[in-house]
Amino acid sequence: DSKHRSRNGWQLFSPELAQRQQDRLQIETQLRRAVDNEEFRLVYQPQVDLRHGRVVAAEALIRWQNHQLGELRPDLFISHAETTGDIVRIGSWVLREACRQVAEWRDQGLGIVRVAVNVSYRQFVGEDLAEKVRVLLHEFDLPGSALELEFTERVLIEDAPATLRTFNELKALGVVLTIDDFGEGYSALNYLRRLPIHGLKLSQLFTEGVPSNRSDVAVCQAVSAIARSLGLGLVAEGVESEAQRQFLLQLGVPVGQGFLFAPGLSPDEFARRLELPLERASA
Ligand code: C2E
Ligand code: MG
Ligand code: MG
Ligand code: MG
Repeated sequence: DSKHRSRNGWQLFSPELAQRQQDRLQIETQLRRAVDNEEFRLVYQPQVDLRHGRVVAAEALIRWQNHQLGELRPDLFISHAETTGDIVRIGSWVLREACRQVAEWRDQGLGIVRVAVNVSYRQFVGEDLAEKVRVLLHEFDLPGSALELEFTERVLIEDAPATLRTFNELKALGVVLTIDDFGEGYSALNYLRRLPIHGLKLSQLFTEGVPSNRSDVAVCQAVSAIARSLGLGLVAEGVESEAQRQFLLQLGVPVGQGFLFAPGLSPDEFARRLELPLERASA
């Protein structure tokens, strides 16, 4: 609102700004207690084979139900939690809950291969992430391959001294390591050679425009070519239409995730989705 800006761009006062600061404070105050109050839950979005719709993995996505603020999506609170450092505790809870859940599914004999968990760059700084994961795998009697960790390029940019060591330790545990939202960040291609990465997730920013938008098509082709030539797995995010699925399939992208197949599901819904016959599952 230009009325509230002085000529040099400083914002003097605006009711919106005050409201935003108020919201931020409220979110941060509530966040601090949210783990103890058990206000988080995980939903699971299927990752499916683009050819026949078979579920190959699940991505765990956090949801926050707060008595004052209602249900909040992660885009509204994860960055606050990163700023305050609360993400470390939240992230530990997410890892543990995802391991508990995948162990339960495996005990029930469901065909789920693994669960992917989003990891913040803050979970690297001064935290022994690999040791935490090792303890959890042991506790729930899971092979490392039951767990996938998704990192954004931010982790690579921050480049904490321990990053390479942590990646190598996680790889040695058998954990699958993936770069999330690939292409949105800095496309630091040199890291792809240096770090023991298994796969990339093509950002939905680019999936969104295919097959009609020519530059999105070009980016998808380029990312697909990078993944293939480096021998990396590739998952397309944000697949919403049959036309997108067809396009990605033709490009040789093996796996997709998106509302065309399913949104994030409760554990029960997810288990039921696993049991659906494939013709119906991919419809
Ligand atoms: P992400 O890891 O890239 O997750 C994909 C996001 O896209 C999810 O949003 C998902 O619900 C949404 N999505 C899936 N399919 C479609 C689609 O077809 N169309 C569209 N338009 N969107 C789709 P969500 O659950 O709101 O999560 C947002 C972001 O928050 C995630 O992006 C991830 O970066 C972060 N996040 C979620 N859970 C966690 C967590 O446990 N820890 C951390 N550190 N970050 C998390
Ligand atoms: Mg993710
Ligand atoms: Mg993503
Ligand atoms: Mg994202």
